[in-house]
Amino acid sequence: MRHQCRDCIYIYNSEKGDPQNGIAPTTKFEELPESCLCPHCGAKKARFKSLKQKRTKYSDF
Ligand SMILES: [Zn+2]
Repeated sequence: MRHQCRDCIYIYNSEKGDPQNGIAPTTKFEELPESCLCPHCGAKKARFKSLKQKRTKYSDF
């Protein structure tokens, strides 16, 4: 699952985590501490929105 910051283009990918900020890979967004801030713009965790993964069944169109 990926979550994007509403204030910039930063995307948190739970599969990769954020090792530079001490967040191990496979750490779910929901498991991040509420004090966690966007590493790009400093926005609060609440500013992030979840990105739905689009699956296209008709990609062979
Ligand atoms: Zn941001």
